[in-house]
Amino acid sequence: MNLENIDKNYVLQTYARNYVNFKKGKNATLFDDKAKDYIDFTSGIGVVSVGHGNKKVADAIYKQVKHITHVSNLFAIEPQALLAQKINQLAGYDVGVFFSNSGAEANEGALKIARKYGRTKFANKKYKIITLEHSFHGRTIATVKATGQTKFHSDFFAPYPDGFVFVPTIKDIYETIDDETVAVMLELIQGEGGVSPFNKEEIQELASYLKEKDILLIVDEVQTGVFRSGEFLTSKLYNIEPDIVTLAKGLGGGVPIGAILTKHKELLTAGDHGSTFGGNYLVTRAALTVLDILEKSKKDGDLDKTIVYFDKKLKALAKKYKDKMEFVTGIGLMRGIKIVDDETLGKIVSQSFNEGVLVLKSGRSTLRFLPPLTITKKEINKGFERLENAIKNI
Ligand SMILES: *Cc1c(COP(=O)(O)O)cnc(C)c1O
Repeated sequence: MNLENIDKNYVLQTYARNYVNFKKGKNATLFDDKAKDYIDFTSGIGVVSVGHGNKKVADAIYKQVKHITHVSNLFAIEPQALLAQKINQLAGYDVGVFFSNSGAEANEGALKIARKYGRTKFANKKYKIITLEHSFHGRTIATVKATGQTKFHSDFFAPYPDGFVFVPTIKDIYETIDDETVAVMLELIQGEGGVSPFNKEEIQELASYLKEKDILLIVDEVQTGVFRSGEFLTSKLYNIEPDIVTLAKGLGGGVPIGAILTKHKELLTAGDHGSTFGGNYLVTRAALTVLDILEKSKKDGDLDKTIVYFDKKLKALAKKYKDKMEFVTGIGLMRGIKIVDDETLGKIVSQSFNEGVLVLKSGRSTLRFLPPLTITKKEINKGFERLENAIKNI
């Protein structure tokens, strides 16, 4: 079988792909069809939060789908209800949850909630949503427009929906707000935009200003959520309780699931929103198991130890290769190293692959790390050894 040929003939070529054929995974280690192993510092872009081939998740999925995979949202779904309850508990403030299948879809739902809020709570219709430069909110027509990077707003796909304005910095939000502004949507750590965390005080100040003005704060935690930063929600690290939070990537440990959390629990009513697959037995059972594992890891102190150790390795590497690396950024296990230029970054990523360690690029010449939250010390050591070999060879 020639995987590359089949892929190129039959799969739409929308990704610049690496033609490796992974056959097996064990926590943060992947094995290809030639039994070469790779340390995975990407977890499939922040998805495989509890590692590859996680036995607890696999067993829970199997046990579930042996009986029921799907019945539709016309019926109550036990693991869905339990997952919503669990998310509410972990969030630490009273939110209701809607389940979608992806991050973009969760954000679409968040935008709908904001639009309904703007339509029903005020005498005049409010619909404008302010987002930030270098943000990323998804690939649907609305979420791509919400994404504050003009390179994504290709004329191929125009016209886009009205009502999205993006601004360069948090400070610019204040003067952009007008009487049609209903919400501000942002990531606390911009994942695709260079793994850049916003300043805590600046965010807190914004959150209280918005509250005072009755403008919703939507925090896109599709990447930062589910313990990626060390807390269930990065919003908690920032001491804010957003009106709406979206989750996806790490929530299902690899199964496609997204979630919208909102304190405006009564706003959407029957018929306002829906999803055929969203929150079915399979994905919610998987997510419940993922949250059990991660909650325990947090409680036992394992997650925090891993974060500290990874941070130490990152800083040591950046210090040693000052000629190529400018600074370390990010929070928790969502980390980056600013590389001197894009060309060097490209070389590091491809040479790392050859050496057997998977790393990612992010905007603004950033080498990005999103390892499984369960990565072991041994895997971290091996990964950094290989990364160093890659850098030495450039
Ligand atoms: C990945 C990502 C999305 C899009 O999620 P999909 O599941 O690919 O639709 C949205 N927002 C942020 C912050 C993301 O990192």
